[in-house]
Amino acid sequence: MTNCYFNDLQNITMCELKKASSDIEGAVAWINFKYYGPVFEELLNRGIKIKLLLNDDGNNRRYTDIINSLCERGAKIRMVRYSGIMHHKFCVIDKRICLFGSFNWTDNANLRNIEDLNVCDEPSLVYKYLLEFEALWELSKTDIRNLRNPMKCANCDMPLLNIMFMEQEGDDQTKIDVMQQCDCGQNIIYTDYFDISVYNNYLGTIEQFDDYIADVQQSGDEIYYKQLISQQDFARSSYLSTVRNNRMGCPIIHATGIKAWRNFYKDDGEWYYKIIWRERGTESYIGAEYDIMV
Ligand SMILES: [Zn+2]
Repeated sequence: MTNCYFNDLQNITMCELKKASSDIEGAVAWINFKYYGPVFEELLNRGIKIKLLLNDDGNNRRYTDIINSLCERGAKIRMVRYSGIMHHKFCVIDKRICLFGSFNWTDNANLRNIEDLNVCDEPSLVYKYLLEFEALWELSKTDIRNLRNPMKCANCDMPLLNIMFMEQEGDDQTKIDVMQQCDCGQNIIYTDYFDISVYNNYLGTIEQFDDYIADVQQSGDEIYYKQLISQQDFARSSYLSTVRNNRMGCPIIHATGIKAWRNFYKDDGEWYYKIIWRERGTESYIGAEYDIMV
């Protein structure tokens, strides 16, 4: 369910923050730490993990002293500067509740502006915000710029995509290929072998939900079913996004895929590449599947 508010927004935000029982992850363009600093301090005293992204500018830098002291006490607070403003105003509490809307955590927004604030506990939405937070936390300014304006092929003028494919190789290895793809064709530009656990952990991440999902589907509990599907989706995306830490020699990996079988009729069919994860910002130029040309 989602509730929307138009008044008393600072109070509502602080009340929600104070209810946290494990962690807070927020990307909020501007925060007035004179007011929110004490709230964060109280949360840190209770052992709540705090991760915040702020826009890097003079408005936030006024509070550098408070921010530094919160960081010394365990909070992780980063000011980020992209080619545009980091204009988000969202926060996920305990991976369960999401606050979002036009409301910045400032005096102006609270007392003078016309703003909205939404408080949502719908897993499908909460997990999307969590993935957005993880992406912004893990990607650099250059990554974000390159993802928005991908390098183009000099020949066909289409984005030059680096897609990582993962498959089981024998009994104890995971084979990783990175394929570079544009309209001209496909090239394998990198191959490596990892422990089988890389592939098995991927399967495990998905399969741990399968039994529950099957049970809940039978019971007809639609809300719980949707929650599990969202949770599974989040777990898969979160696992696959670890490719940000090892980009196989590429400046960026745009997507991850596996070989899948497509049936035409009866026993006739063909293998194709099925995309199972897309990096943030690639939605407009990465397809759901690719033919195998090499
Ligand atoms: Zn090309």
